[in-house]
Amino acid sequence: MYSVTPPPLSFSCYLHNHNLHLHNITIRKPKINTKTPFPSFTTAKSSLLSSPTISLHKTEKNAASEPYSQQRFHNLCDTGNLNEAFNFLQSNIDDVVSFSNVKPEDAIGHLLQACGRHRDIEVGRKVHEFVSTSSRFQNDVILITRIVTMYSNCSSPNDSRFVFDVSRKKNLFLWNALLSSYSRNALFHEAVCLFVELISATEFAPDNFTLPCVIKACAGLSDARLGETIHAFALKTRLFSDAFVGNALIAMYGKFGVLESAVKVFEKMPERNLVSWNSIMYAYSEKGVFEESYDLFKGLLNGKEGLVPDVATMVTIIPICAAQGEVKLGVVLHGLALKLGLGGELKVNNSLTDMYSKCGYLCEARVLFDMNEDKNVVSWNSMIGGYSKEGDFRGTFDLLRKMQMEEKVKVNEVTLLNVLPACVEEIQFLNLKEIHGYAVRHGFIQSDELVANAFVAGYAKCGSLDYAEGVFCGMESKTASSWNAMIGGHAQNGFPRKALDFYLLMRDFGLDPDWFTIGSLLSACARLKSLSCGKEIHGFMLRNGLQLDEFIGISLVSLYVQCGKMLPAKLFFDNMEEKSLVCWNTMINGFSQNELPCDALDMFRQMLSSKIWPDEIAIMGALGACSQVSALRLGKELHCFAMKARLIDDSFVTCSLIDMYAKSGCMEQSQNIFDRVHKKDEASWNVLISGYGIHGHGLKAIELFKSMQSAGCRPDSFTFVGLLMACNHAGLVAEGLEYLSQMQSLFDIKPKLQHYACVVDMLGRAGRLNEALKLVNELPDEPDSGIWSSLLSSCRNYGDLDIGKEVAKKLLELGPDKAENYVLISNLYAGLGKWDEVRKVRQKMKDIGLQKDAGCSWIEIGGKVYRFVVGDGSLLESKKIQQTWIKLEKKMIKIGYEPDTSCVLHELEEEEKIKILRSHSEKLAISFGLLNTAKGTTLRVCKNLRICVDCHNAIKLVSKVAKREIIVRDNKRFHHFKKGFCSCGDYW
Ligand SMILES: [Zn+2]
Ligand SMILES: [Zn+2]
Repeated sequence: MYSVTPPPLSFSCYLHNHNLHLHNITIRKPKINTKTPFPSFTTAKSSLLSSPTISLHKTEKNAASEPYSQQRFHNLCDTGNLNEAFNFLQSNIDDVVSFSNVKPEDAIGHLLQACGRHRDIEVGRKVHEFVSTSSRFQNDVILITRIVTMYSNCSSPNDSRFVFDVSRKKNLFLWNALLSSYSRNALFHEAVCLFVELISATEFAPDNFTLPCVIKACAGLSDARLGETIHAFALKTRLFSDAFVGNALIAMYGKFGVLESAVKVFEKMPERNLVSWNSIMYAYSEKGVFEESYDLFKGLLNGKEGLVPDVATMVTIIPICAAQGEVKLGVVLHGLALKLGLGGELKVNNSLTDMYSKCGYLCEARVLFDMNEDKNVVSWNSMIGGYSKEGDFRGTFDLLRKMQMEEKVKVNEVTLLNVLPACVEEIQFLNLKEIHGYAVRHGFIQSDELVANAFVAGYAKCGSLDYAEGVFCGMESKTASSWNAMIGGHAQNGFPRKALDFYLLMRDFGLDPDWFTIGSLLSACARLKSLSCGKEIHGFMLRNGLQLDEFIGISLVSLYVQCGKMLPAKLFFDNMEEKSLVCWNTMINGFSQNELPCDALDMFRQMLSSKIWPDEIAIMGALGACSQVSALRLGKELHCFAMKARLIDDSFVTCSLIDMYAKSGCMEQSQNIFDRVHKKDEASWNVLISGYGIHGHGLKAIELFKSMQSAGCRPDSFTFVGLLMACNHAGLVAEGLEYLSQMQSLFDIKPKLQHYACVVDMLGRAGRLNEALKLVNELPDEPDSGIWSSLLSSCRNYGDLDIGKEVAKKLLELGPDKAENYVLISNLYAGLGKWDEVRKVRQKMKDIGLQKDAGCSWIEIGGKVYRFVVGDGSLLESKKIQQTWIKLEKKMIKIGYEPDTSCVLHELEEEEKIKILRSHSEKLAISFGLLNTAKGTTLRVCKNLRICVDCHNAIKLVSKVAKREIIVRDNKRFHHFKKGFCSCGDYW
């Protein structure tokens, strides 16, 4: 609904900067010899968490001095033509011996290394066979060690074991090679057993190559106790002082999440290298402790060791900026990477692209992405993910298509998982189906449960629940997330009942709900307004300690809000430790929706004092509350606030403001705001039209209706509600009937009950009761009690008992337990003087135990809203209020006021009835207003029920004797009382 596009960043800013500022610390420009690049970065993350490579031979020589044949052999090895290299070696082995000063063992070793590097196990096996069948080489333990390592690199540790077992001579190198093979290939248990065998069954003392492999195995087994034992062993054998060992320990503790131990190792290491720094930074960032990662990074840059960040450092620290949304720091790191000559490194480029796109700087990400010449699947995935996260559907799919045209990269599971969240609307259904087909053809759905779940969620979001169910049913193993996708999909797409059904099925399958399930279920219950169901889930949460999560908390609060239970909602809200903006919004809007505007405004104030900055939703909720009670001054404050918060251009806020001013009786202000709106949408026209409507300015509303169309806006169903209401309040019957018929014939909008209700009311007020009744009887839908009751009050006004009786019967059928219906009926009889009937109705009310809804009025004075209930004597000032009214009454009687007791139901003496009339809530509110405001101030009162005849008469006269303008809004319309007259022309 509301999106902020970040300002573009300039890439040039850091290119000219020689000293980079990272927070308050100046990073020394590292001494870079431009001719020799930094320590090798060819294998990125090389210095991170790597165990040492066991290098046995150091015979690299200047290739130019070697004979031609050897150079050729090396070329073949390097380019991966290993079969050819092997054949060459086999046929020239004697030449190698005779023509060069290189030992054949070295050539074989070189080929074995190449086999490992290119993961070519076929040729590797041939070399293995060649060695083991040659009497010259078969006992060469160095070559055997190389074969073990080759199998390890080709992910075949069992072959490593076989070679190890058949070797007659075994030295520590060979043991280390097998150990490394096990831990490299995740056979951690075997690695530990081998280590135990090494220290118990041989004389060899483990060295600085042995321990890192074992420590890695401990980390892999998540065996903290064993890890600590090895740590102790390292301390005892003094191997701890070796950097490889220390680094492995840091990585291990990092993996366990025991940061204190990792830090202890880091601090006690006598000699730290770059890997040590990278490992400890990585440990912190994995734990989400970002501040310390930054501090360490600064420490690294300023350290005595004079270390210079490498690829691994950068790809550890850059994602932290991404996670934190710290784009400024990210830019500094980008600059640093360029200065260090790491800008061209694929992994660095990828993490920078990812950082920019996660921070919402898609243009910058795209520049980097486009500049990257050897993009791999990670590059594509993070760029696609960036577009998708921003909801840029077109960008996401454009890039996906480009990716599919690339030869070097293939769409994988991650790509799909990144693309799918972009499909959230119905129109994207076809695209979704397209990728679905792709995923099925490539077996992603079948093999990857995450992908299948993402499709379920995607279809659900696009509203295609059938397709979602199809994918769901096709899944072999359904996890909680699969069920969640189905439950959430149904809950969000207006099928709350089905969401609950899926939940029951899920339980039948023996799966427990998790946070997501609970969240969806709560929202389903909220939609169903099913408090009992919701309470059951709440109970489950309490039993399982799930209530602490914020998301769940909000869902629970909104469940109670939706069920109209503001008290438990408030209690729960008060107990929440962290109240986010969303929580506050839920409460503010909840109070407002549940017609507790004063509480809504209270909430808004509390939110401000809790230093939470409101957004457009909070402002809308608060404005809605102001509208309900015509709290003009508060509304104005909110208006200023919205301007300061720059929310004034939000179309929802604008509409709420137009509505608030209209409902506070300031049509001029409403019009002003409307006039200043640049792009006027349907909603803003509608609000203004109904604003004029409730004020009885029918002709103005009609004029606006016409301008709306000439401005190119198409009237919708809401427009006609406002328009028909305007015709009704202004008594423009002919026009109203005309618009009702135009609605369908010209605008192709089917009138709903709301529209008919306006017209029925309009006909009734005009005394055209027969027509009104005919219309009601011919309605396409079943009329509701609102329509019948408005017709009944018309019958009362015109004293039509025949139609009145018929209507009363219908009304009681629809709402036999609604007090207001009985009141209306008894008013009808009372108006005709049929007191016996009045008594019967009243007796019936008593029998059923019904009480008339308490009349209630609000008045805002000095930014505070005061509420008055009929007969309210609780206010301190109630005595003064009564005296004020009696004084007014005396003045009014002089100019012709006569209390109209016909609307008092109780059978009482006339004097008592007049007493009751005096306690009507609007009279209390007006007296209070007169007491507490300066002369000449306009009073604005708001009432929950329709104003009675006596109050209407009385207030007209008050406006004259007190020389005040009084604006009363009842539940139907506005009455502007001025100099003894009302704007409604006594037509309400
Ligand atoms: Zn009254
Ligand atoms: Zn009036």
